[in-house]
This record gives sequence, C-alpha cells and structure tokens, in this order.
Amino acid sequence: MRNTTLIQYFHWYYNEEENLWTKARNEADNLAQLGITGVWFPPAYKGTNGGYSIGYDTYDLYDLGEFDQKNSVSTKYGSKEEYLAAINALHEKGISVIADTIFNHKAGGDELEKVTVKRVNEEDRNEFISENLEIEAWTKFTFPGRQGKYSEFIWDFRCFSGVDWAEDLKEASIFAIQNEYGEGWEDVPSKEMGNYDYLMYNDIDFRNPAVREELKNWGKWYFETANLDGFRLDAVKHISTEFLNEWIDAMREACDKELLIVAENWVIDDIAELESYVDATGGRTQLFDSLLHHNFYLAAQAGKEYDLTTIFDNTLVQNNPLVSVTFVDNHDSQPLQSLESFVEEWFRPLAYAMILLREGGIPCVFYTDLYDASYEEEGNKIDLKAVASLPQMLKVRDLLAYGLQRDYLDHPNCIGWTREGDEEHENSALAILLSNGEEGFKTMEVGAKFAGKTFIDVLGYRTEEVVINEEGFGEFLCPAGSVSVWILKV
Ligand code: CA
Repeated sequence: MRNTTLIQYFHWYYNEEENLWTKARNEADNLAQLGITGVWFPPAYKGTNGGYSIGYDTYDLYDLGEFDQKNSVSTKYGSKEEYLAAINALHEKGISVIADTIFNHKAGGDELEKVTVKRVNEEDRNEFISENLEIEAWTKFTFPGRQGKYSEFIWDFRCFSGVDWAEDLKEASIFAIQNEYGEGWEDVPSKEMGNYDYLMYNDIDFRNPAVREELKNWGKWYFETANLDGFRLDAVKHISTEFLNEWIDAMREACDKELLIVAENWVIDDIAELESYVDATGGRTQLFDSLLHHNFYLAAQAGKEYDLTTIFDNTLVQNNPLVSVTFVDNHDSQPLQSLESFVEEWFRPLAYAMILLREGGIPCVFYTDLYDASYEEEGNKIDLKAVASLPQMLKVRDLLAYGLQRDYLDHPNCIGWTREGDEEHENSALAILLSNGEEGFKTMEVGAKFAGKTFIDVLGYRTEEVVINEEGFGEFLCPAGSVSVWILKV
C-alpha cells in the first residue's frame, strides 16, 4: 500500500497567467514524482462573478466553463475542455481528482420573484423580527445560456430557505422564506447564532424533495462527465446532515469507484463538535482537522513558549485518525482571508513533518507551500514562500514513512518519533526530531533490526551520522527551531 497524499491545488488569490487547469496538466508528472496521489481542485463550475469568481459563489453547477453565462464561457480556472484534459493527464499519472462541491447556497439568480418572507435577527437566527412581508428576490434560476442542456431543472423560491437582499426595498437583511417546506431554518450542525443554516446568498432548502433529487442527478452527471474520484464538501456545518448522508449514499451507490469524500466543518476549539459530526454522518466522510491546524497556528506564534507535548491534544487526528484529513493551511486561513490564521513560516516545515511523516490522517498540502505566491488586496501585499524542504518530505512520505510508529512526545521544546519501516518498501524507516527552542537531541528506538546501520538527515540540516546500537536505539539531533528527518544511509 502506498501512502495517500493530497494537495489543495489552488489558493484564494490564484491569478497567474497560466490557467489553473493547464498548469495542473503540465505539472501532473512532477506531482506524481513527488508522491502526490490526489488533487483537490477549486470549484469548477460557473460562479456569479463569471471569469473572476473564486468559485464559492455558485451560479450553475452544470456549467464547467462551457456556456456563455455571467459574461464568460470559461471560469477563472479555464474551460471545460481544459478541465477534463487536466483530469485526464492526472489520471494517466495515477493521481485522483477531488471536486469541490458547494451545496449550501446559490448566487446570481436570473429573475426576480415575489416572495413571502420574515425578517430575521442576525444575531439570533431563530428570532423573527417582522410579520410576513412580500419582497422581490433573485430566486429564480433558469440558466438561459445553457438552455436546459444536461438538466431542465429551474430553481425558484421553493428551493431556498433564505436570502439576504430585497431588490424592491434595496434592503440587505436576512430574510427567511415562507414556503411549503417551512417558515424558518433547517436543522444544521452549527448552533452559532441559534441556527447557522444561513451563511450567504440564496440558502438552499433541502426539505424540498425536488432539490434533493436534482443534486443527486447532478452528482452522477458530474462524476460521469469528469471521471471524478471524490468530493470535497464545502461548509457542511451550514447544511442539513440528513441531506448529505442521503447524497453520499446515493453517490456511493451510483459510482463504480471507491470515492474519497472529505467534509469541511471549520471548528477550532471543540473536538466534541467534530466528533458529533462523525457520529451524525456515521463515518461516511473524512473531515479536515481544523483543530490540528489551529494548534499549529498557536504553536508557531508562541515559539519556544509552546509545549510541544500538547500539539496533538484535542485534535481529530489524535482522537479519530481514520477520518482525519490533516493540513497546515488552506484558502480560508491564508493571509487576508476570512479565517486568517496562517502558520508562521519558521514553523511550516515542522508542521509538514507532523502531517506527512506520521501514520495518522491523510495529509493535504497547500498550494502555496509547493509554489511561491504573491498577491495584493487593498494595498496589502503578501509574499508566500514555498517550503523548501517540502518536496523532500513528500518523497520521504511516499517511499519511506511506513511501519510501526514509536512516539517521543516527551519534552515541551523537543519531540520526535520513529517509523520502523515495512517489508514492502525498501529501506523504509525514519526518525524525526523537531524543536521549537534550542537545538535538540533525543535517544529514540528505530528497531533492533537496524543495529549497526547508519542514519543521515535527508534535509541536510545536520551533517552527523547516527549509528544504531545493539538494542536498536540511536541518538538523533535537530537544529534549533527546525526539524531533521533521518533516513537509512544506503
Ligand atoms: Ca444552509
């Protein structure tokens, strides 16, 4: 078995000349060489901002850069043909493709409808602050540019539970739509502000059975059209879990592949919330470990004051590794974004060692850690440097990070672990040591079968050679505020 390694193949401010699909196609071989086994692509369908849309403002799920809608045929990332060509090229290199899937909302309706609503208290969504009133809202989606190709489904006010704009009143508020499926919100995982069903734009109402059917039909169409290998489910804490369970089951039933499904349920301080989502979904999906990301963020900020023995405490990868997708940062946590909590540069190699070279969790690398990125917004200029040691660590993960793990999470400033390797992977075995303070040293066991063998730091930070003693132990080293990755010298 080969280790699974994902990459999030975009960031919020991706704006390079080369369209993303073409770049991915051109990089397929390089990614395979690095040991990447799966790529998570950004939303590939048309958003309300057309060719400028990042993709989370979904307009038409069936428009993968094929129709002249929202002033553009292509999306920001390219055309449908380029998208499919990229997927093909990745598949040829044995890399799977995971599609970003936004079910919470739709944006950019084509026509106004007269809709009966109640105003909602933004701070307590369960409280209505008006009687019924009629407003004009952009709730009708006819997709005139697509003209019924692939699906003739027309979305209207019965498909949505809320909107945030009354066109006739020119009023921005949260309005709960009164339709035959309910007068308020659906039961969703997040209880923030009473009920966090409503996030943005036109909130989709899954109580409408026609909506559920349409989204299942779409999922099957998308799977077949793009030959997908999995789905990344956006913003699930704002979406009916009952619907998602139904959708996932329908997809697993209809698709003749082992789908990788991973849900984004952004929680930074309460493991119980993620655990209850695992229970509610019956383990149907993997979950991003935002708790581990948050620990990395705090550890990087605190420097040597952070107690590294606690770095995995209350994280999903520690409590429930089988469903955990680990990551250092993503497009929401990067600088200038809504959930900004970017892990400081010095700590990123340490964090990558902790997600790539341990046995728990499926790691997902962030785009800007493999490629430099520069961007600017409202006068703020950001330069993100790729992590120099990342390619090396990815290869080590692919080839050598196997077998029994022995943990030495035993000093506030210096922790380590070893991997004993396995028969299937030649010369596999590892010793990792990292420090957030002074340079570190630690005696760790790699296994008696390595007695007399020599280990070297593949990252090249330490030039010593470590010889394993008769009992299978060696004294490993790492530089101050850094990480060393020791492999068998062959
Ligand atoms: Ca919702």
